Amino acid sequence: ERDETLTRALEPAITLDGVHYPVQANIGGFADVEKALASGAEGVGLLRTEFLFQARAELPDEDSQYQEYKRIAAAFGDQPITIRTLDVGGDKPLASYPMAEEENPFLGHRGVRMCLSDPALFKTQIRALIRAASEQPNIQMMVPMIANVRELKAVKALVADCRTELGLPEEQAPMQVGIMIEVPSAVLDAEALAAEADFFSIGTNDLTQYVMAADRGNPQVAELVDYNEPAVLTAIRMTCEAGKKAGIPVSMCGEMAGDTKVTETLLKAGLSKLSASPSLLPSLKAKLRTLSVA
Ligand code: PEP
Ligand code: MG
Repeated sequence: ERDETLTRALEPAITLDGVHYPVQANIGGFADVEKALASGAEGVGLLRTEFLFQARAELPDEDSQYQEYKRIAAAFGDQPITIRTLDVGGDKPLASYPMAEEENPFLGHRGVRMCLSDPALFKTQIRALIRAASEQPNIQMMVPMIANVRELKAVKALVADCRTELGLPEEQAPMQVGIMIEVPSAVLDAEALAAEADFFSIGTNDLTQYVMAADRGNPQVAELVDYNEPAVLTAIRMTCEAGKKAGIPVSMCGEMAGDTKVTETLLKAGLSKLSASPSLLPSLKAKLRTLSVA
């Protein structure tokens, strides 16, 4: 059975009712591209750009980011590449960017909050993304930790500024701007966010931690950090419903997406795409082949 799963890894997953269900990879950089392709990834649902920023003394400049995004996107042909903007702070410090000690880092200055507080830093990344998208139209931008509509509008205003500065309007460099749904307030206001976002991707690692108020890295509360909790499942369903109502796709890129024990639940909730670690993709496809979407 294991052999069969692996030999069919490169084939699309067609559900019992004949739907081609896309399966994508979570990757951390160009080093993961080969493995993702060999595992049958149909594009990238989450590129964590932290890799470019971590373990180096200086922040990567616009050009080096542009080159990196472009070469990763090119490796996937015309399959979509979802590039998440910098998501540091909390448990992810940066040597090149000193951040103040915080009493509650997971509730603090992390992800898009930090990026919005430093427009020069954020715009460097956004400009690199727009330039890369002008050559690789399969690039999509994804913003982590969005908590309200105001933040998303601020991000979109920066994207518009960068487009003007670069002389690369939407027609010349089409790039969808979507958001991660991983903060409870984003679930509760998902209808309003769906009016402003091109897509949603549910980040169940953080969503579970925040819905359950339980630190995802603390073994003492590990029992609560469980995406099978009814409240987490309700949050996922609410997000899918808001996306459906607004006509935008809703995918999932947290660890839950790769767990074949819950794949059926996720299809029923209405997710249209799953993104997981490359090594999990062959078995995820095998599972999808035994299920129906409808
Ligand atoms: C998540 O929170 O589910 C997620 C995919 O992002 P990260 O694990 O990088 O916080
Ligand atoms: Mg997260």
